[in-house]
Amino acid sequence: MSEDVDLPESHPRYESLLTRHRIEAGVDRGITSRQGLIAQGRGEAFDYLLGERTIDSADDAERAAAAHLLSADHAVVSVNGNAAALVPGELVELAEVTGADLEVNLFNRTEERIEAIAEYLREHGATDVKGLTADGRIPGLDHERAKVDADGIGAADVVLVPLEDGDRAEALGEMGKTELVIDLNPRSRSAEVATVPIVDNIIRAIPNITEHARNLRGDPDAQQDAIDAFDADSALTAAEQTIREGDLE
Ligand code: ATP
Repeated sequence: MSEDVDLPESHPRYESLLTRHRIEAGVDRGITSRQGLIAQGRGEAFDYLLGERTIDSADDAERAAAAHLLSADHAVVSVNGNAAALVPGELVELAEVTGADLEVNLFNRTEERIEAIAEYLREHGATDVKGLTADGRIPGLDHERAKVDADGIGAADVVLVPLEDGDRAEALGEMGKTELVIDLNPRSRSAEVATVPIVDNIIRAIPNITEHARNLRGDPDAQQDAIDAFDADSALTAAEQTIREGDLE
């Protein structure tokens, strides 16, 4: 993680404080919505109970997600205000390594925020950011929430949606897309409808998916094995058990 805040890395709450700082800065910059602050707090509580680490079942999910992104005909990484504030450079790198498109996609959509996020991603090295055309629709959602790019999420067979709202995750699933969801709550609707639910903090999940993608790149058999070996229900159960049975040391 970068040096964007004056905090000693030895601080026991370093990662959590850095995360909060980034979300706060995201709100100030017009990237993150105020509701994003609440979502972050909710996520932090789950992360605390998980031990603020990538549990084994999440690592398996991250490997399966990397395999799906690599073997897709057309993969899209959806970026909302929290994701952009927390891991902008890491999202750009993941898209580069897997050949996926980046598309800004907001629950509380405003043109200003879409443009601010696209600009922020460009500052972090993105060359082509989708989400500005909004000429496609997700069936079953009201007008603003349904908007996507027709040649982006609209045409994708695989979508990675970090911190997605449950309704939209459900509607994307109904479109027949393979959905890779990052969500720290294993019982959120988004996690439950995902082909691959990744119960991990986005700040750990994205770099780890990228690392798996580097290892799986150019090896379709290994990609297929990673996809076949992953079981969504077991992963959700394992995450829930960790949360319920972990000790709060
Ligand atoms: P549902 O999917 O049940 O409809 P929701 O739309 O009500 O959930 P929000 O309150 O919008 O969910 O919160 C977004 C979700 O993102 C929460 O489940 C939260 O645990 C998760 N979340 C928040 N921050 C992070 C993070 N940094 N990494 C991963 N997940 C996160």
